[in-house]
Amino acid sequence: MLKVSKFGGSSLASAEQVRRVCDIITADSARRLIVVSAPGKRHSQDIKVTDLLIAAASARLMGKIGASECAEAIERYRSIASELGLPAEAIEPVARDFMERLEYSTTNADLYMDTMKAGGEDNCARLIAQVLQARGVEAHYVNPKEAGLLLSDEPGNAQVLPEAYNRLRDLRERPGITIFPGFFGYSEAGNVVTFSRGGSDITGAILAGAVRADVYENFTDVDSVFAANPSIVAAPAPIAELTYREMRELSYAGFSVFHDEALEPVYRAEVPVHIRNTNNPNAAGTLIVPHRTTNEIPVVGIAAMKGVCCVYLSKYLINRQIGFGRRLLEVLEGENISFEHVPSGIDNMSVLIREENLPEAKEKRIVEKIRQTLAPEDVSVERGLSLIMVVGEGMRHTVGIASRATGALAREKVNIEIINQGSNEVSMMFGIKSPDMETAVQALYREFFECS
Ligand code: ASP
Repeated sequence: MLKVSKFGGSSLASAEQVRRVCDIITADSARRLIVVSAPGKRHSQDIKVTDLLIAAASARLMGKIGASECAEAIERYRSIASELGLPAEAIEPVARDFMERLEYSTTNADLYMDTMKAGGEDNCARLIAQVLQARGVEAHYVNPKEAGLLLSDEPGNAQVLPEAYNRLRDLRERPGITIFPGFFGYSEAGNVVTFSRGGSDITGAILAGAVRADVYENFTDVDSVFAANPSIVAAPAPIAELTYREMRELSYAGFSVFHDEALEPVYRAEVPVHIRNTNNPNAAGTLIVPHRTTNEIPVVGIAAMKGVCCVYLSKYLINRQIGFGRRLLEVLEGENISFEHVPSGIDNMSVLIREENLPEAKEKRIVEKIRQTLAPEDVSVERGLSLIMVVGEGMRHTVGIASRATGALAREKVNIEIINQGSNEVSMMFGIKSPDMETAVQALYREFFECS
């Protein structure tokens, strides 16, 4: 039995948390491949180590020194090490490493930023290995370059390269417990590159897929995935089991408990994912599996994401124009904009885009280009939208879900701007104005989880 276990930033935020993590690791001999994040927040006002490192790097990139932010990050490691009784020298390599990173060349700003960010996870992995060794456990830090975690050269947003899987497979054979830093790997040119934020989940998933783990345990700070965001719905129902597709839809639209890009590697290898709570390891957690054993509930969760905009265009007889959609999407491609959904009617098309991907300047350019190349009768951009996703594999076999959902929204006078349902019927999407977002989620939650 081999388990890959990943511990998130809140699980490593303090000495007490690190002690808990080490107890969990040593409680099960199958936990042989451990992935760690950088220390996160100890309380709501605290700053994550990664954010301190970003602040230090940004300061240096602006011609300042960045030393105070870097010192604050080092202090986090020092206090964990000293509270856990490690000798004072244990922290020297960590301090040296951070200071060296801070002094790296800033000629390539992206490379510099990723090198700084990666230091959080890298030093945390070294520290955890030391804490375990001090307990008499055979634990070894491994560097992602040595292990073969090859990533695309996309700083801050890298993706795994297929050849990494074969190389990483050898991790299975390592003696003792391997402590692997999350969040970063190396490009083919040998440079540090990081995933997007929260990317240690992705590292864990890649390793679990590569070594064909029996399970990928993802330890975080909640007992399970919940059916709705607890800050919108009071005490939402816990979800015991989800399919990969359901989790992907939920995390895509705002469920932050598991990174939405982390499902692909485990999905391919069919490794189940177990979301668990470091602070309550006896809780059942949520299991993410290829096929759900209980299918009687049609809807498993309701997710919502703000910050969406819609590029809308209409033209009479669009349905007769070959290549219209392609040319529209080419305009976006030309500006390097990715899109989320493309709902369409007979004489109109809408493209939903995350607002962060469509700054005002780009908006002006694409509207102009659309006018020139497609000559629509109307083209406009609406900002301030939210997408609500009603998710569940069971919807496929249940009649009337759309009617219940739209009825629930209508009763709360939420105007639906867009509706979209993929033919796989794992989710139904509603586009609404953002000020209605909370009311909409609460209404849908009541409909599917409180009325039977
Ligand atoms: N430390 C990184 C972040 O804060 C990655 C992670 O925690 O997964 O985004």
